[in-house]
Amino acid sequence: MKKIVILGSTGSIGTNTLDIVDRFPGEFQIVGLTAGANDEKLEEQIRRYKPTVVALSNASAAAKLRDRCRDLSTEILSGTDGVAEVAQVPDAELVISAIVGGAGLVPTLAAIRSGKHVALANKEPMVMAGKLMQEEARKHGVRIFPVDSEHSAIFQSLEGHRREDVRRLILTASGGPLWDFSREQLQGVKPERALQHPNWKMGAKITIDSATLMNKGLEVVEARWLFDIAASRIDVLIHRESIIHSLVEYEDRSIIAQLGLPDMRTPISYAMRYPERMPLDLPSLDLAAIGKLTFFTPDHDRFPCLNLGYEALRIGGTMPAALNAANEVAVEAYLQEGIRFTDIAEVIRSTMEAHTPREIESIDDALEADRWAREKAEALVHALAR
Ligand code: NDP
Repeated sequence: MKKIVILGSTGSIGTNTLDIVDRFPGEFQIVGLTAGANDEKLEEQIRRYKPTVVALSNASAAAKLRDRCRDLSTEILSGTDGVAEVAQVPDAELVISAIVGGAGLVPTLAAIRSGKHVALANKEPMVMAGKLMQEEARKHGVRIFPVDSEHSAIFQSLEGHRREDVRRLILTASGGPLWDFSREQLQGVKPERALQHPNWKMGAKITIDSATLMNKGLEVVEARWLFDIAASRIDVLIHRESIIHSLVEYEDRSIIAQLGLPDMRTPISYAMRYPERMPLDLPSLDLAAIGKLTFFTPDHDRFPCLNLGYEALRIGGTMPAALNAANEVAVEAYLQEGIRFTDIAEVIRSTMEAHTPREIESIDDALEADRWAREKAEALVHALAR
């Protein structure tokens, strides 16, 4: 049995991963689970999967969990250190990295440094410190398998081809729930509307990122490091139906793409049993029933966040970490209805303008930029707050 750890087991990716584990009894053994503060859901998971060790980053939620799980042998840790410790549990082979946000950087890097292969859904650490993560993965002889559907599609479209023949990567984007909104409509849009994604059911933060197109900005940075390719050779194409998950163009102008219904269990399972495919009992893609697929170029005026992602990558060093932190603060403020939808891009832009980037030589450089940018973005949010 393949021993696995799931970081962020109570979230959307985490529960989809457990769904796959359930569908293939005897193939995977859960040895570690982590979450933020959802002690009730984690308790259900502990009772069902009996992991050796779990952690909640929230200390008081962990104390409640310990109280309720006295009858069990599972060790319950807490705090950021506890989550990072679960990521290194000695007998795990694969760590599913599915925490949301920069909080995943320390544990994901800890998993890599302790020699675990990583199935990476949590894109923010790659944005904050992608070069460092890849260097560490090489040093420790581990692989980082993409879980993000676009990066999984590119990973699959690169298989069996020569890297020297790649001309460009084309990341597809659904355009999110607000694609047709005018600038005026975007200003007043409420979180409950922005959370209604047309194709994907995901956590709140990535759904708002999808609505601003920052998700695609983050994915451009992620692709740069995952596939070691210059930003100038990464394009973005709006594809409303989310059927073509991304494409690779080769030097002879052939394009290889990966298609499928929008269901994260397909890319998750590919990362879990690579290079073999799992026989998932899911509906097949019926292209005749879909009839037509549509494509557009992104509208950078209404959705400036995508270009902010390219800009952060062009500047380099700690700038992507600053962009990521400012985005997390701004999205949270928007979800709490503290700022307007269109303020999200402004908070990120102003934070980036105020940031003096430096090279990332260690994880501390990324964490320091993250800390600085959060403070700056919080001040900007405060000034904008209604
Ligand atoms: P969710 O919000 O659904 O889940 C996030 C998970 O992280 C939960 O288990 C949550 O615990 C945990 N968590 C939150 N904050 C912390 C913290 N500070 N420390 C430790 N754990 C924490 O997110 P998603 O599953 O949607 O996304 C996870 C990652 O995967 C993101 O980076 C996202 O961009 C990426 N991704 C997601 C896709 C999707 O389909 N959902 C698709 C592609 C990528 P708790 O429940 O206790 O809050």
